[in-house]
Amino acid sequence: MDYVGRIYRPPSEARSLLVQVTIGCSHNRCTYCDMYRDKRFRPKDFAQIEADVAEAKAAAEQHGAFTRRAFLCDGDALILPTKRLLPILELIRRELPFIERVGVYGDTRSVGRKSVEELRALREAGLGIVYHGMESGDDEVLARIDKGGTRAEMIETARRLREAGIDHSVMVLLGVGGEALSEQHARNTASVLSEMDPPFVGALTTTVVPGTPMAESQAKGEFRLPSKFRMIEELRTIVAESEFTNTRFSANHASNYVPIRSSLPRDKKAVLAALDEILEDRDERRLKPESLRAL
Ligand code: SF4
Repeated sequence: MDYVGRIYRPPSEARSLLVQVTIGCSHNRCTYCDMYRDKRFRPKDFAQIEADVAEAKAAAEQHGAFTRRAFLCDGDALILPTKRLLPILELIRRELPFIERVGVYGDTRSVGRKSVEELRALREAGLGIVYHGMESGDDEVLARIDKGGTRAEMIETARRLREAGIDHSVMVLLGVGGEALSEQHARNTASVLSEMDPPFVGALTTTVVPGTPMAESQAKGEFRLPSKFRMIEELRTIVAESEFTNTRFSANHASNYVPIRSSLPRDKKAVLAALDEILEDRDERRLKPESLRAL
């Protein structure tokens, strides 16, 4: 497989076939992110994608079907126009018929540029899930982190994906509003998630990465990361105030201090009780040590 630079994928795609269809991220401006800063965004040649799929096909013929899922990298591969994405999905379906679901990172821009009919066509060609790094439901926080989308656009993104029949996995980032906007970040994230009501939500915890605009703001004293327990309080607010129909809510990413896997609203009481115990004790030994955390 031809991989250019470091490859990122959601934790739940750990066993998926990773097919790189774009290099980098077309936005590449979020203040906390350094994932693709060294990559100039560009689509990969279809011929290279064909070669990668042929390699996966040969491996499956030799060893048997090794996965039922594929994930299209990089940062926001859904930004590719439908006329470029459809042939990729059709290629995977034709050559790798054991792949049951294709996933991709997407956001308000990449979803917003496609009609519901286009999204439906992508779903019919195999696109099953879009992972959306929303990070916050608060417009002030979204502007400060240069996310490139508004709260209203996040809600519209959820509506369009639901209408097209594509699963929506929304990621939020604890602490990303800093100390100053912590409260409004948590409360408005809970309210926007309630309006979106997606099937999957994942909470991650902000790490200030050296070399990013966020790290520069921190050095100037303009951004202060909330304490570990304050970020757990944000998580508690999000769980307490979200109103879901049936959502798999997790905080089991390597960046989190307290791992959670739950189904909401079913497990709401149990999750809140567990978080309350940690927040009452304030015992750092109950949190994941910094040495085991990762981005
Ligand atoms: S959209 Fe995603 S990959 Fe691109 S800069 Fe923002 S966080 Fe990084």
